Amino acid sequence: MEKKKLIIFIDSGDTLVDESTERRAEGSQVVESASLIPGARQALTALKERGFVLELVADGLAQSFDNVYRQNGLEDIFDRRTISELVGADKPSPEMFRTAMEKLGLDEKDKGRIIMVGNNLKRDIVGANRFGVTSVLMAWSPRYCMEPGDREETPDYIIKEPSELVELAERLEREKEACGEWK
Ligand SMILES: [Mg+2]
Repeated sequence: MEKKKLIIFIDSGDTLVDESTERRAEGSQVVESASLIPGARQALTALKERGFVLELVADGLAQSFDNVYRQNGLEDIFDRRTISELVGADKPSPEMFRTAMEKLGLDEKDKGRIIMVGNNLKRDIVGANRFGVTSVLMAWSPRYCMEPGDREETPDYIIKEPSELVELAERLEREKEACGEWK
């Protein structure tokens, strides 16, 4: 399978994993188990099969993500993982996005290839917009406000569920190719 040029950074909680299903041991912050959002597994698998690079860019504890993705049989789905506990900063910090790029050997000129997909306006969308990559709001969760408060919180694209991400990624791949936006 030929690799796509579009690079997908993706959040976890309420973007791929249903936060309402997270279980923690008493007195612990570590998520022991959680269920995926309907369609998330199929979307991740389809993106991977079609040659898109997937990087988890998520706030939380590394052990939580190890547990949840292993439990769901998706421990190998991400090409890389950037986790706030290990970076020492949460989104919207540019440190998260810079680290995520470095892990893939990308630099400034590659920013046009990157989309950041997440459910949180103040973290995922503001972070992506300030950093200068394409922002995609996953407006699936009933637990977060999906109304942008200002320009910085306004996503470039909005999708309602994981399956829409496959279509959007394919569309952006074609559009960016056509517009010569890769360099
Ligand atoms: Mg989230």
